[in-house]
Amino acid sequence: MRCPVCNGKSVGKVGVDQFYCWDCFVEYQKQGDNIKIYSVAEDGSLIDFHEPASIS
Ligand SMILES: [Zn+2]
Repeated sequence: MRCPVCNGKSVGKVGVDQFYCWDCFVEYQKQGDNIKIYSVAEDGSLIDFHEPASIS
């Protein structure tokens, strides 16, 4: 499965339906048809990922 953020293939499986992208350092989880994306904080905790704003 490809990363939903960068569409890259540097993705590792870290749990049941849970994946990690080595390119953008996000963790994501398949929840049925939805994919929940998390950023990994420095202490290893997961925080909600917010896509970079398209207008800066
Ligand atoms: Zn990625």
